[in-house]
Amino acid sequence: MKKITFLLLLIPFFSNAQNPNYWQQQADYTMSIDMNVDTYQYDGAQKLTYTNNSPDTLHTLFYHLYFNAFQPGSEMDIRLQHIKDPDGRMVTNIGTKEAPIFESRISKLQPDEIGFIKINTLQQDNAAVTFETIGTILKVTLNKPLQPGEKTVLDMTFKGQVPVQIRRSGRNNKEGVALSMTQWYPKIAEYDFEGWHANAYIAREFHGVWGDYDVKITIDKKYTLGGTGYLQNPNEIGHGYETEKLSKRAKRKKYKKIKKLTWHFVAPNVHDFTWAADPKFTHDTMQGENDVTLHFLYKNNLAKEQLENWKKLQTKTAEFLSYYNKNIGRYPYKQYSVIQGGDGGMEYAMCTLITGERNYGSLIGVTAHEFAHTWFQFLLATNEIKHEWMDEGFTSYISDLAMNEVMKQNKENPHEGSYKSYIRLATSGVEEPQSLYADRFHYNAAYGASAYSKGDVFLAQLGYIIGENNLQKTLKKYFEDFKFKHPTPNDFKRTAEKVSGLQLDWYLNEWTQTTHTIDYAIKEINSSVVTLENKGSMPMPIDVKVMYTDGSTEDFYIPLRMLLGQKPTTATIINDWSWVQPSYTFTVSKPVKSVEIDSSQRMADIDRSNNVFEVIVKD
Ligand SMILES: [Zn+2]
Repeated sequence: MKKITFLLLLIPFFSNAQNPNYWQQQADYTMSIDMNVDTYQYDGAQKLTYTNNSPDTLHTLFYHLYFNAFQPGSEMDIRLQHIKDPDGRMVTNIGTKEAPIFESRISKLQPDEIGFIKINTLQQDNAAVTFETIGTILKVTLNKPLQPGEKTVLDMTFKGQVPVQIRRSGRNNKEGVALSMTQWYPKIAEYDFEGWHANAYIAREFHGVWGDYDVKITIDKKYTLGGTGYLQNPNEIGHGYETEKLSKRAKRKKYKKIKKLTWHFVAPNVHDFTWAADPKFTHDTMQGENDVTLHFLYKNNLAKEQLENWKKLQTKTAEFLSYYNKNIGRYPYKQYSVIQGGDGGMEYAMCTLITGERNYGSLIGVTAHEFAHTWFQFLLATNEIKHEWMDEGFTSYISDLAMNEVMKQNKENPHEGSYKSYIRLATSGVEEPQSLYADRFHYNAAYGASAYSKGDVFLAQLGYIIGENNLQKTLKKYFEDFKFKHPTPNDFKRTAEKVSGLQLDWYLNEWTQTTHTIDYAIKEINSSVVTLENKGSMPMPIDVKVMYTDGSTEDFYIPLRMLLGQKPTTATIINDWSWVQPSYTFTVSKPVKSVEIDSSQRMADIDRSNNVFEVIVKD
């Protein structure tokens, strides 16, 4: 038996590891929280079992204390006062619409409105350790250095205060949801092959350590909770989680003398734990594919039409689950919760918090997007502080396709909006490379267009380069090989190379690490001789459609030499084109009437006006 167990444990770990030197840290949490719903303060105890799988000896550990960002004078506050286009949710316009003057909402928070996490005690293996709070980061100096392969246990007690809702987390959001508890606990920072990722909380999102969570939340019995994990005591809790239904009378009797309930959740193999709570949540459930329970928690005092939207959302969410299972890979957890809360839409482990007072299209579209993040962030956990485009862009790509199918949109190019947004960015003069860290963009708008739109186009355009079939295969292989890990841009590129047999280093470099742009043009047509020109700074393989004077058409494909191969195509394959060569001439069999470069418009050419050329026939 032992041998079998040993093998079973090893197989999933090693068979998927593409790099035999790959390792990742492990952080298992046991937490209990006592929430005071009147003061918005909570007392917490946390036991963190931290395993150092790295080859390095660690002397220091870092935790994130995200709630400290919601204090006047924090880095988040100061950044908000200086960025030219602050997030509208985080500021008040004290000027006019024409001449706005933005005031940071964080700068105005009173002591009982700010967020904080204060560490009371911290021990390593039962001995007190030295720690220091530096803004949103806690620095811990270990008593005993942690050797490669060793485990250590960190016991902590802390006090938290839930901030007035300004961004993502908080109390009493604009729709009156009491508690949006995201990024709410002391969370160990990730340490990987690049070192520590102890980034201050300025605006952007996640990089966390994989682990198992065991969380107990004690809260006023009137509150209904939803979030990450599986409820362990559903019949004690009720609130729509119970498996044994009680009569109203029996329920009254059961809960009469109780003031608070303790909700016990476990969540295996996640890198975050989120929850939300409100005394007025309606809680519906529905079964999705592979016995996944879908939970929907939304305010029972929404307008009638909005309540109907939340009902209609439920079967669509099940359809999105099936779509992502089929087109990326199987959802591995037992539940997913769509919860009204937060300040827009934001993805978390096994759940999303989304504002609920939306029209139907918006509720569905945002849910499709946030749910897709489960695959591109909560299972393929790229560091989105550094590689934001792999998270937002890939999510946008797959949710565009899911919306097109599930909502029967029948769009010829479901990514058209992203292409337009990217081209606007590329011609705006404020574009910065995608490889810039998410918090460091000069403009929020440029960050958004780069991460979401240019990231979406990265994949859609890769379909143009390697072929649609190869792209679909790449996505599935990427998920299989890198789920429950922290893949990097290179891991994705290697997967696409292995599937397609083409060389793609140039694509990753130019698209993600530079602001080079694509602009191909037709220079000249001389009877049956066609000359194309590369006017842009980024090269591409070229699909060309030629219409002859006799009315027939022929498709040609010009491989980019750097690919060292070609995509599967039914077009006539002609000589390759090296990026060093500014122009390219080819001869066809008959006199030409017109030529079009990339009629599918999946190549992100920033000036399409020179992609079509028609021969003017003089009589
Ligand atoms: Zn997103």
